[in-house]
Amino acid sequence: MTDCIFCKIVDSKIPSSKVYEDKDFLAFLDIMPVNKGHVLVIPKKHYVNLFDIPEEVLADLIKIVKKVAGAVKSGVNADGINLMQSNGVPAGQEVMHIHFHIMPRFKEDELKHWPRKKYVDSEMDEYKDLIKKFLE
Ligand code: 5GP
Ligand code: ZN
Repeated sequence: MTDCIFCKIVDSKIPSSKVYEDKDFLAFLDIMPVNKGHVLVIPKKHYVNLFDIPEEVLADLIKIVKKVAGAVKSGVNADGINLMQSNGVPAGQEVMHIHFHIMPRFKEDELKHWPRKKYVDSEMDEYKDLIKKFLE
């Protein structure tokens, strides 16, 4: 896609700090890291997000994510790794070309996970059913 920033990175029209590349996938440093060493992994072909990418491409992509996550962990001596992958603007997706974030974490990095909510009464059962009916 011509107006997609990650397609431009794939085509080397804009520079990136690449850590891994093969025929179909690319991994490069996020320009605004959560912690230094934060990497994005993308398919070279443009898919918008989880609901657009074919299963077989996703299956190969997640294998690359695992490989690169191991390299990030070793490379920056991380104590842990978060993966993140956002789908849709309300979920925080800013670049509409599917990508997995690999974020190195450190014991004292003081980053916080999201605040949590609570189910009340029978809500947990209701929410289970709302989702389950699309999986039957
Ligand atoms: P999203 O919010 O869509 O999950 O994540 C998009 C990510 O892309 C952000 O973390 C942002 O810092 C990163 N990003 C946006 N533009 C560029 C760019 O031009 N180069 C690189 N390397 N990362 C970018
Ligand atoms: Zn793209």
